[in-house]
Amino acid sequence: MKLFGVLGDPVSHSLSPAMHNAAFKALGMDCEYHAFRVSPDSLRDAIHGAFALGFGGLNLTIPLKEKALEIVKPTELAKHIGAVNTVDFNNGMTGHNTDGIGAMKALEGGGVHVKGKNVLLLGAGGAARAIAFTLAAEGAIVTIANRTPERAISLAKDVGSAGKIRGCGLEDLKDLIKNSDILINSTAIGMSPKVTETIVTSDLMRRDLVVFDIVYNPLNTQLLQEARKAGAKTIDGVMMLVYQGAEAFKIWTGKTPPVVLMEKAVRARLS
Ligand code: NAP
Repeated sequence: MKLFGVLGDPVSHSLSPAMHNAAFKALGMDCEYHAFRVSPDSLRDAIHGAFALGFGGLNLTIPLKEKALEIVKPTELAKHIGAVNTVDFNNGMTGHNTDGIGAMKALEGGGVHVKGKNVLLLGAGGAARAIAFTLAAEGAIVTIANRTPERAISLAKDVGSAGKIRGCGLEDLKDLIKNSDILINSTAIGMSPKVTETIVTSDLMRRDLVVFDIVYNPLNTQLLQEARKAGAKTIDGVMMLVYQGAEAFKIWTGKTPPVVLMEKAVRARLS
């Protein structure tokens, strides 16, 4: 039996155990995935302990993703992003970040390609960092708009030479959206329990806009409801979660993950 897990605090709400256990079962693998509550102060012991116990791999969630950089050997991408969400034990302790690729695959799965497109990214937190680096590397023209403009400007500077990118505040949303092909919400706005909140309302959106909300709890966020009112194409947060997990699964096991079953397991838990 090989063990895998997600470390975080809080972590009991995590959908990762359901998603990965469905994948292991479907592939007939003798593996189990569990959630472990770990504080930042105990992270070093927890990762080294899991390695010593022969775990297959770990995911990390809030508030541990940044702290892990000091503990494992991060890939160049994880180092740039400044956060690790996947630890691989196949060759020492390597820290990956699969959040950005998860977001990109969610867009591609919805038939949306970002190369040469104007993307408005709302938020400059942990998830936004991963998405911004990946969007820029894929050739999108990115504007990061954040409540705290300094964070958006600083993130744009960090991404820097990786692409065309700038940061600003939320004041000129009307014009920013008018000049965008794709709008991505990577803020926590709209997340349960404040489910009626949204930064953007339908009057600012239009039919040829793609609106991707990475918030998945609830699935049908206020932003997505507003986008549908405007006739815009919408993508919810589930596929980003599934694809970041699928990338981790591939890194740990070398096997092709059963993405459809993983999505089914997540949607069953959310509905
Ligand atoms: P985070 O690092 O805490 O960042 C939060 C972001 O939201 C910051 O940009 C913050 O702006 C902004 N924000 C918070 N409250 C706001 C308000 N009242 N008005 C305007 N902006 C506000 O969080 P995170 O880890 O990036 O996660 C963000 C969301 O993405 C969460 O809902 C999380 O569940 C979701 N997520 C989804 C996936 C997925 O796979 N689908 C993956 C990761 C995260 P300031 O900088 O001004 O504080």
